[in-house]
Amino acid sequence: MDPVQKLAALFAEFPGIGTRQSRRFVYFLLKQHKSYVRELTALIESLEQSVAECVRCHRYFMKKHERGNECAICADLMRDHSQLLVLERDADLEALERSGTYRGCYFVLGGTLPMLEKEPESKIRTKELVKLLKTGGKEIREVILACAMTPEGEHTEEYVKNVVLPLAEELNMKVTSLGRGLSTGTELEYSDADTLRYALEGRK
Ligand SMILES: [Zn+2]
Repeated sequence: MDPVQKLAALFAEFPGIGTRQSRRFVYFLLKQHKSYVRELTALIESLEQSVAECVRCHRYFMKKHERGNECAICADLMRDHSQLLVLERDADLEALERSGTYRGCYFVLGGTLPMLEKEPESKIRTKELVKLLKTGGKEIREVILACAMTPEGEHTEEYVKNVVLPLAEELNMKVTSLGRGLSTGTELEYSDADTLRYALEGRK
């Protein structure tokens, strides 16, 4: 493979990007000023240095603002550590934080589970979630499942629920879901504060 093909193949792995779009990205870069490409490569390279994944909730955080292996939310003793809200992506977490309606802790699955996926654990962090509930979650009393009300979101939530339920029973934790307070098609990331508050209050 030549560099154009190689780069296009890498872009094709991005979420929602097909082979045609990935080739357009490469030709776009070829047309850009050298300084643009240099800044882009430098930024991509710096990600590893400047961003870390929280060992507890697995969200990404800026290393320079926060210390240690835990993000500021997990390390915040003023937050309610008895509630663990499980969501798909970092963007969902940011939407909930912006809304100011939730004061508990989070767990980021890292995506959704495609239908008929043969290796679920390669797509979402259920292994890490089980580990957190077993070892790091003595104070957790309630696991709130908060996947999107889309077919793939509901499929993901069902899978996570089946993984968590037996363990939650054993550890005396309640498992609830935001789903009933959200209308069909709702994604957390695009929901306003009122919708999120309503969903939280109506969780079952
Ligand atoms: Zn965290």
